[in-house]
Amino acid sequence: MDSQSYIPGLNPAEPGPLARFTPPLEDGVVSAWLPLHAPAGSWVLDPFGFSPRLVLEAARAGYRVLVTVNNPITRFLVEMSARPPAEADFKAALADLAAAKKGEERLGTHLQSLYLTTCEKCGNEIYADSFLWRKGEDAPYARLYACTHCEDSGERAVTERDVENARKIAGTDSLHRSRAFERVVTLEDGDRVYAEEAIEHYLPRPLYFLTTLINRLDSLNLSPERRRALNALILVACDAGNTLWDHPAERPRPKQLNVPHQFREHNLWAQLERGLAQWAQTGAGVLLEAWPNRLPESGGICIYEGRLKDLAEEVQKQIPIQAVIGSLPRPNQAFWTLSALWAGWLWGREAVEPYKPALRRRRYDWAWNATALNAAFTYLFELLHPGTPFFGLLSEPEPSFLTSALTAASAAGLDLQSVALRTEHDPIQLLWTCGEHLKRQPGEADLEDVRESIHTRLVERGEPASYLHVHAAGLICLAKAQALKQPNQEFDEALRATQSLIQTALGGDPRFVHYSTGENVETGLWGLAGRPAVMPSGNGSPVQDEHRDSLSDRVEIAIVTFLQKHPRSIYLEIEHDLYPRFPGLLTPSKAIIYAVLSSYATKEGGEWKLRAEDVAAARRSELNNITALIEAIGRRLGYSTRRQDKNYLWEQNGRVERTFYILASALIGRALAETPYPPEQTVIVIPGGRAALAAYKAQRDPALAGRVKKVQIVKYRLLRALIELPVLTRETFEEQVAGDPLEKSKSQMMMF
Ligand SMILES: [Zn+2]
Repeated sequence: MDSQSYIPGLNPAEPGPLARFTPPLEDGVVSAWLPLHAPAGSWVLDPFGFSPRLVLEAARAGYRVLVTVNNPITRFLVEMSARPPAEADFKAALADLAAAKKGEERLGTHLQSLYLTTCEKCGNEIYADSFLWRKGEDAPYARLYACTHCEDSGERAVTERDVENARKIAGTDSLHRSRAFERVVTLEDGDRVYAEEAIEHYLPRPLYFLTTLINRLDSLNLSPERRRALNALILVACDAGNTLWDHPAERPRPKQLNVPHQFREHNLWAQLERGLAQWAQTGAGVLLEAWPNRLPESGGICIYEGRLKDLAEEVQKQIPIQAVIGSLPRPNQAFWTLSALWAGWLWGREAVEPYKPALRRRRYDWAWNATALNAAFTYLFELLHPGTPFFGLLSEPEPSFLTSALTAASAAGLDLQSVALRTEHDPIQLLWTCGEHLKRQPGEADLEDVRESIHTRLVERGEPASYLHVHAAGLICLAKAQALKQPNQEFDEALRATQSLIQTALGGDPRFVHYSTGENVETGLWGLAGRPAVMPSGNGSPVQDEHRDSLSDRVEIAIVTFLQKHPRSIYLEIEHDLYPRFPGLLTPSKAIIYAVLSSYATKEGGEWKLRAEDVAAARRSELNNITALIEAIGRRLGYSTRRQDKNYLWEQNGRVERTFYILASALIGRALAETPYPPEQTVIVIPGGRAALAAYKAQRDPALAGRVKKVQIVKYRLLRALIELPVLTRETFEEQVAGDPLEKSKSQMMMF
């Protein structure tokens, strides 16, 4: 298996409506991958339709994207992102809504008045942005507002009137609640109880707001385009109106329908207006068709509403699918259940019918996920030609999700080609190809092979890794051996066996060290005990010298080398150069890239440029100065200085008293490896500008931190200051050197 390099992208400035339920993907990734695997104009299939952005980006890149969408809300999102109404339609639809009558009142005025409150400072009547609630209570405890009269803003305790308003609206709640579920299921429906439970996640005020709006929809007499626009705005309000908004927002991406202990009730009128701004940004027109209509070669999106199973029979042989893309679905009980509710509210019961099982299912575990993915992959296998590439994005990765996806794919005849993993906060980029046979000879899961595979990856890395990284290494080994699932195994059994095998491999081997405060194998970091002098490569031959450096040291070297050759580069260019050098599981994090950049370079107008003092020639002359300083200070203290390889030794009567290793970089690991003297004698000298980077490396690598603690690291400027002292004794020297820790800031340094 040859590891592909991670394809860098950009975080979208505005991730769009319902972003907390759509996969967090970077823009520019799929449009960079596609041309490498299929010419523009080809048919590309997204079997999951999980990410509207992904589908849109592929279509914009000139591909004919066939997408299966089962969830009516996701389908709506795909349609809207491909062909959004004009901004004028959004505005007109909202204006029409506001102008509709509710008794004597305008509907807009009436709905906004639900959020009236009094400014604590100036006493004027204003609209609250939100109310804050504690779970189980019948009134809010606080409100958030920004007063338009006196500029008082922030969180304030509720007033008696706020409490009364909340209770008053709760008095009429049962009527609105039954209206809300009758739009989703009939009274006699067996699923009624599930719909009722889902609606429990709406407080009385937002439920009143939403049902009032929805009941008005049909009498508004809007053009189809404006109706679509209004639906889109209401959808934003439907999401803003539930109780799944924890305060403060610690879990901004809910997966379960659980009411947080403290949550935020949004002002839904303000959310309609916010929706207008969000939707207006979504878009450019892309050709949109519904299956079985076809798309021209110039590309577009063709939606198949239904299950992949049914599509497989229809597509087979009719359309040559040249590549598959998709954000792998992960279970989201909250979104799936709410989608069924919202579909009913927006389009009525018929729209919910095909999706109704989503209301019913309460628990989605990884075995369920693997079984469902496997079914999808199996249909996929049937409609693809052997060798067809499949680019899968696994967002919000966690070990069980990755196990589930790789096991499901392997059991469906897809061959894993590559796993590119950056951190547990970035989507994993997976590449499969469609194999020759659905059923293959399964291999034996071998504990020693898994162990060796993990060991090799950690040697390559040269520094500890997250559990997700070592888990992925184990999975890759098992996938290669076709050993993720035996034919007679159920998925839950196979997933458990894999997890236990990998954890046994880690736990039962003294070569592995777990850096963690807890017992849980999945927290903290995994590294290697001891550090072999020459690290063997996978095939037993000696590795290149550079492999003695840790991953972060190699990344530092690569970035500086790149910036020396390409001054004034933008961040994305740096990533483009870097990732192919560190493919697969080695992909460096953005954090380490930024740590190196801010140590060596400055950013001007989006471009990174080495600091004047970090240009190679300047650093070389600086190194000579520091060498001279060490000799001069040594002389004053009565030592002679001698160079031995890369170390400078202070000697007295032929005995080594102190050793110095001078760095222009933050390659502390290399300095330690090249210093054969006792740590208590060792001084590593670094430029002040490297201190933060060195400290950062020690912080992300507990093994390095342990070794750094035993030696002394001082900055160039300490030596410069010492030579200026009128009286310099060995005691002063020891004191000053001990008082110059890595973390110490510049201002504290200026004490003499
Ligand atoms: Zn005020």
